Amino acid sequence: MTLEAPLVKAHWTPVPCDVCSSARQEALGERRYTVSGRTQRFDMRFQDAVCLDCGFVFAARRPDDAFLMAYYRDAHIGHRGGELHFDAEARSAVVRRHVRSGGRVVEVGANDGAFTAILKDQGFEAFGFDPVEADEARDVAKGFAGSGAGAPQADADGVVAYYVLEHVIDPRAWLAELASYLKPGGVLIVEVPNYATHPEDSLNMEHLLHFTPDSLARMLASCGFEMIETPGATVAYGQAAVARKTGEVPPPSPRPDAVQSARMAYRQAAAARQARLDAAVSAASAAKALSQGPETPIYVWGANEYAERAAPLLSKVFKSVTVLDKSPSKVGKAFDGLAEPIAHPDDTQGVDGAIFLVCSPNWNRQIAEEILQRSRPALAVIDAVTGAVLSPSSP
Ligand SMILES: [Zn+2]
Repeated sequence: MTLEAPLVKAHWTPVPCDVCSSARQEALGERRYTVSGRTQRFDMRFQDAVCLDCGFVFAARRPDDAFLMAYYRDAHIGHRGGELHFDAEARSAVVRRHVRSGGRVVEVGANDGAFTAILKDQGFEAFGFDPVEADEARDVAKGFAGSGAGAPQADADGVVAYYVLEHVIDPRAWLAELASYLKPGGVLIVEVPNYATHPEDSLNMEHLLHFTPDSLARMLASCGFEMIETPGATVAYGQAAVARKTGEVPPPSPRPDAVQSARMAYRQAAAARQARLDAAVSAASAAKALSQGPETPIYVWGANEYAERAAPLLSKVFKSVTVLDKSPSKVGKAFDGLAEPIAHPDDTQGVDGAIFLVCSPNWNRQIAEEILQRSRPALAVIDAVTGAVLSPSSP
């Protein structure tokens, strides 16, 4: 019996459209998750809406600052060490194109400082800040934008923020703060998920704001930035923008024609997500069919929503169901509905004839290979995201 961590609830406040300030909005759906952090669990409830005047999709209620701060410190999985998850050369090339050699660059949401370090290596006077990772990172102060953690005032040549804007409670105040770091004419480089091309990635459990290229451009314009380039994004589901601080704000431009495509993208993403959750149920059925009975050890690799769907079904049939994850912040924690805590994949050494359900939307092929290369033979490897049996390969 594991003691459950306390559940933290936010105080939610309704908001108008962030892009055009209209209060006319239509509910699209709710996304609700309980996210387990290192010491607490968080009750995430996003009520998504579309602005009826401009088609912007956003969380119609925002959590309080204290909740979000606690969430990011306790539950957010940052990237640290190891392989970069973005195209570093493409990312730094954009900075070199728009910021003078040796100029001052502030990275907001710098994570483990990997990109800040690359900018320093390229001769920029670079530093960053981040609410989570600063203990290990060099040249990264701990804090959200707005904490005043050593940020320059109006003397930066460039401010860069990759996959941060979609997380912030008050994007207009946040952009105003970033503008305050910049010299007149300084450039802001941002990347965010692209809701127009990748609505399902945009609608992940931490994102409050869902930008199309058009709504991103209008948002930046409404905060005194003039768009100067839209370079390619440095992760697959993203979009990038380079804008110059002008301080001039054009009159708002309604986009009622954008509402219908925003609704359709939301429905399409919700259907795709449901199909993937259904596939996790198919994967559990496949495990039953391939097993040698209830004694067969079952491992579910990836402590995520696919595992949440499949693992409780499996635990009704099999005596030993263990969720595996490589993230140090998850190993040893309870997994909802299972007796065993989350284990590291290395803990499965020496177990023969197990069935593995692999739960990563992007890395299941590689994980399956890793399982098959380990010394002990697996009975079967099943993809919980598609429901397909990866091994034994079908004839
Ligand atoms: Zn709007």
